[in-house]
Amino acid sequence: MGEIRDNLLRVREAIGRACERAGRRADEVRLIAVSKTVPAERILEAVEAGCEDFGENYVQEAEAKIAHIGQRGRWHLIGHLQRNKAARAAALFDMVQSVDSDRLAERLNGAAGEAGLRLPVLIEVNAFGEESKTGVPEPQLRALVERVRSLEHLKLEGLMGIPPPADNEADQRRRFRDLYTLWQSLPAESRQELSMGMSADYPAAIAEGATMIRIGTAIFGARQR
Ligand SMILES: *Cc1c(COP(=O)(O)O)cnc(C)c1O
Repeated sequence: MGEIRDNLLRVREAIGRACERAGRRADEVRLIAVSKTVPAERILEAVEAGCEDFGENYVQEAEAKIAHIGQRGRWHLIGHLQRNKAARAAALFDMVQSVDSDRLAERLNGAAGEAGLRLPVLIEVNAFGEESKTGVPEPQLRALVERVRSLEHLKLEGLMGIPPPADNEADQRRRFRDLYTLWQSLPAESRQELSMGMSADYPAAIAEGATMIRIGTAIFGARQR
């Protein structure tokens, strides 16, 4: 019990320091506890320690946990989503952060429509030309933004990005700054959230304007797989 609570305390303190240095209020940055591979009982410890937002990578894995924990958390899908799982995802998650193609957006829109809801989404952008990475390549971002904005059952709220690790703070910040600049190019109504920063680099992401940080190992410890 104590371990997750202590980890959360440390992360919250670091968020507070990073916000203070950046002249931001701590409530401008939402902590998303990334609970992939973490069993429901341990997620409940985080709920009890005050965590409200959770990130999961796989629909199937998340399904049982969401059934168990349900409304006590808000659930964000942060992993790559296959189109044939779009309907499940739309029903289960409060936000899908990993929209990266027209066809996926259209599937999610159809599913959200059938469920009678307007689903908050982020577009995941691959801003650094990494071939192995998910996310829409930057040259196609603008067209995808327009497409998602035209779908009536999706609500585009911003961008998610995963910059490659850098070996120094200045380079790391530059990468987050590139994401921030892309985010700034979105229409104002679709620019509430910028999801960037993980356990290894979230202070730099906060310095460059993240509104959501996605933290796994710093809260739950090293993953088994
Ligand atoms: C696993 C994961 C994280 C969390 O990574 P940590 O290094 O454990 O903090 C954040 N975002 C995405 C998209 C992930 O897949």
